[in-house]
Amino acid sequence: MNYNAWFECDLGCTYPLTEIIYRCKNCDGLLKVKHDLDVLKQRSADDWKTLFENRYMSTKYPYGSGVWGKKELVCPNIDDENVISMCEGGTNLFWADRYGSQLGLSDLWIKQCGNSHTGSFKDLGMTVLVSMVNQIMSDSGNIKAVMCASTGDTSASLAAYASAAGIPAIILLPKEKVTREQLIQPIANGALTLSLETDFDGCMAIVQKLAARKEFYLANSINSLRIEGQKTISIEIVQQFDWEVPDWIIIPGGNLGNVSALGLGFLMMYELGIIDRLPRIACAQAQRANPLYRSYQTGFTEFKAITAQSTQATAIQIGNPVSIQRAIRVLKKFDGIVDQATETELADAAARADRTGLFNCPHTGVALAVLTKMVERKQIKSDDRVIVISTANGLKFPDFKVAYHNVTAGEPTPQFLNTPIELEAEYENVLKQIDKHLANRVIYSKL
Ligand SMILES: *Cc1c(COP(=O)(O)O)cnc(C)c1O
Ligand SMILES: [Zn+2]
Repeated sequence: MNYNAWFECDLGCTYPLTEIIYRCKNCDGLLKVKHDLDVLKQRSADDWKTLFENRYMSTKYPYGSGVWGKKELVCPNIDDENVISMCEGGTNLFWADRYGSQLGLSDLWIKQCGNSHTGSFKDLGMTVLVSMVNQIMSDSGNIKAVMCASTGDTSASLAAYASAAGIPAIILLPKEKVTREQLIQPIANGALTLSLETDFDGCMAIVQKLAARKEFYLANSINSLRIEGQKTISIEIVQQFDWEVPDWIIIPGGNLGNVSALGLGFLMMYELGIIDRLPRIACAQAQRANPLYRSYQTGFTEFKAITAQSTQATAIQIGNPVSIQRAIRVLKKFDGIVDQATETELADAAARADRTGLFNCPHTGVALAVLTKMVERKQIKSDDRVIVISTANGLKFPDFKVAYHNVTAGEPTPQFLNTPIELEAEYENVLKQIDKHLANRVIYSKL
């Protein structure tokens, strides 16, 4: 089969995926990746499902990857030998039985996208982008380096894939606005790591200027190749449910590439007959960085970029999201909603869910806080199948948790506080503490 995909603007101008271009030369619009759906439709929905199932988690490189197992729907234009894969995707769908029942839900699942090579969902898109760069270079295109502005996870992912490919990576980070863990990732992978005295939006402005030099390939999600890889989140979720579509998906949003990708994945499956209905989507924002929420309040008739305030959910501390129009289009198609979470709400939600076996990052906390509000509003019914997208591994954000479980004098005690007890290494003392703890357990098992 001759599967094909290309860049296309809203007015229909097209460019090959191997061209180094991010906006249309004629209308300056963002480019999306379009697939030849007629060719894709020649395979039946059942045959697609069987093909994807046969490849899933297999060792046949690169098809065991959650992304490359769907290569025809993602990016058919890359030769297998140019693919740079670290077996992305295939992440656990955690049945949040205990947490769900605390909220009165019987069918709650957390898609653990952070259980990935660099600890965030960003790997799903980055494998496609870096593989394309590898393809362009092997076609003797002139690329000297890949680069991105980042709130911490994009840079970790880019640095890992670039170093696996042997391609230089340039990383622009807002100084002191990423965690120590996120900062050390590109450093360890040998990327040129530039820590700038600005916020993410400031880094983004500079990297977009640098992108005028075509030999520096731009890896931010303005480059829709990343969206193609991230699209597989939807396909994988549906596959994990034996091709059943859930009722609701809640996803945290910053630059809004991921919520767009989520929607596009469902729309593509719908076109190919793999699914026969769409879920509803809720995008969750931090109240301190909520330009999409504000636009939603106007029925999406208005959008104003804002200056994002500092939030614990640093990866979504974005005031001028590049994929705003894409995201609004997607949310309208999915009867979508947007809600927000305060700093206390997101921290409590993450900590509360941690008590049921999870270890959530703050962004997942934002989504979990919005989930609670939706349940309280009865927007979500008790037997709805709900998926919360967990975007990163909590281990990348230890300070968030340390701060929560540390009582600061004068501050209110957090609801789910748990502090270590220091005591002498003496048997009787230890036993006394255990007894005391278990006697108190009645109280906190209700939490
Ligand atoms: C990038 C990122 C997000 C936001 O995704 P967008 O596509 O920018 O909306 C959320 N959570 C984490 C952990 C991220 O790294
Ligand atoms: Zn155009």
